[in-house]
Order: sequence, then structure tokens, then C-alpha cells
Amino acid sequence: MPRRRNSPIEEFVAVAGGLFVLGMVVSPQFRAVVLLSVGAAFLLFLGWIAYRIGTKGRREMQAVDAGCPVSSWNSITEPPLSEKVRALDWFQFEKLIAAIYETKGYSVKRLGGANPDGGIDLIVENASDRFVVQCKQWKAWKVGVRQVREFLGTLTDSRIPKGIFITLQGYTDDARALADKHNISLLSEESVVKLLEDVHWKFNPTITSALDDQRKLCPRCESELVLRTATRGSGAGSQFWGCSNYPRCKFTMELR
Ligand SMILES: [Zn+2]
Repeated sequence: MPRRRNSPIEEFVAVAGGLFVLGMVVSPQFRAVVLLSVGAAFLLFLGWIAYRIGTKGRREMQAVDAGCPVSSWNSITEPPLSEKVRALDWFQFEKLIAAIYETKGYSVKRLGGANPDGGIDLIVENASDRFVVQCKQWKAWKVGVRQVREFLGTLTDSRIPKGIFITLQGYTDDARALADKHNISLLSEESVVKLLEDVHWKFNPTITSALDDQRKLCPRCESELVLRTATRGSGAGSQFWGCSNYPRCKFTMELR
């Protein structure tokens, strides 16, 4: 029976194996190099296992954040909570703040929205506490002394002396000084993130649905805003946000 011809790969493996065995037998240096390599590979493997165990909790959290099973964690890069808050439209932002206080056991009356009643967004109260919350979801500007003074006027009108002002980009020094004098608390982005963490936002469907809601609502009538393309004028061809309630509501907003 003719001897079967080996493929080049089989021959290479046979020769390399032979050389390896020969090296192990005749050369102590070769043995030492092989043993060291195996040891180093083993240590690297142990290190990798330790790293995976150490980061397990974090990966599971990310997977929970995204509402996905833990097994698919590596396909997700979840934006940080502060970014989610920043991505919200004014309407969801106000809803989010209301949901935070409701979760903390307060009852919340929403007066803001499209037609703010005397500049008040939310009245928040429980048996022993009552305050007005103003949400200014500015992402690029600091709240200045003028806005705090207006809020102060609102508090006086409503005869509720305690107020909380919430914005994302922070406050000017003058605004802070005025607020300090008048029992107004100023909350910024970090405070909102902290409040969300305090109420375990991940397990609160009202909060998660507000965070995931990407609609833009008309500040005049609360209908959804839709992308439109200008057909006339110097900006013909460019896009803008228009109210879906058009022509009854003619609100428009530049694309951001
Ligand atoms: Zn509208």
C-alpha cells in the first residue's frame, strides 16, 4: 500500500514538533525559555481573569442602564446620566424634575408647561414643607441675577417663601448672592444627577421614560414639533422645527 503523502502543513507541524522535543531533551537553555514562557502566559491569564471579575459589576450596571440582558453588555456604550439629562427637551426636563419629587414622597402640581401660571413651573408640597420649583433648562448660558429676581417676584406673588431654581449650566455670582439672601436654593446639573441617583432612577419607569423620550414639544401649545424645510425666503431649503399644530400654532424654532 503506498504511503499517504502528507500536506505541507502536516509536514511543518511534524518537523517543528520534532525540533521542539529535540530542543527540550538536549538543551537546558531551551527548556528554561519554554518554561518561562508558559509561566508568563499563565500569569497573564490569571491577571485577565482578575480584571474581568473586578469590572463585572460595572459592566452589569451598564447593561441594566440600557435595559439589555447582561450577556450583551459589550455591544453597548451608554452615555453618562448627565448627558441624558442634557439631551432632554424642556418638557421632559420638567416632567423629570416632577417625577423626582414625587418619588421623594411630595405631591407635585405642574403649572408650567406651555402656559406657565405666573411663571411658576411646579408647586411641590408634603405635610410639613411647601416650595416652588422653577426649571430653566438652559444648556449654554448661566442663569443671571435677572432670572433670580423674576423668580423672587413669582415667590412673593404666590405667597410661598421657599423656592428652588434648577438649571444645567450654572449661575452667575450675582445670581448666587441674591438667591442666598432670599431662601432660594440653586440647583445645577450635578445636583440633578445626584437627586436622580438618590431616587434610584433606573428602577423608576416615569423617570426612565422621561429620559428616553426624544420628542420635542412646542412651548406654546405642547404639540409635538416636527422638522420642516423652508420653501420661501432667503433660508429656502434650510430645515427648522415647526409646530405640528400649524396653522393654528405658528411657533418655529431654529435647528439646534
Ligand atoms: Zn404649538
